[in-house]
Amino acid sequence: MKKCIVCQKDIVSGKAAKVREDRIIRGLRKIKQMFNIARNFELYVCEEDFQKNTDKRKQYEKNVIVYTILAVCLFLVLVGLPLLGGKFNILLLLSCALLSILVVLFALLFKYVPATETQLEVISSIGSSVEVTKIIAPVQEKLKNIPIQKEESKKRIANLKR
Ligand SMILES: [Zn+2]
Repeated sequence: MKKCIVCQKDIVSGKAAKVREDRIIRGLRKIKQMFNIARNFELYVCEEDFQKNTDKRKQYEKNVIVYTILAVCLFLVLVGLPLLGGKFNILLLLSCALLSILVVLFALLFKYVPATETQLEVISSIGSSVEVTKIIAPVQEKLKNIPIQKEESKKRIANLKR
């Protein structure tokens, strides 16, 4: 099932852009699988939400850069000031590093906007190519086995005649 991640609607027709699978999406899926709540939707953004999502994604990418710079500054100030005063504390260094990482993680996760493919693809209710190969593959297997069965039955018939 294809689902729009913005309006949560099922996409059965029209155009939509596929969401790019990145580490965050794969991570969230793994967490959901751990708790057995994964529904394995194919994630898309529908045509109506496409522009909105693209703009939000651009803003998100900017935010990540800003938050990263902020975190580095925070780290430098928190660690640098005591250093200037001639004090060095490994615990302070570690806790500042942790705090800085948390700031970046917060920006990455809680304001997360996934990237999509830049091209919209046409969605049809016939099914995706993956589903088609699922149907075709077993048939192909059966077709492969048919000549062998014929050979075997010929042999059997030959044996019976003897
Ligand atoms: Zn939508």
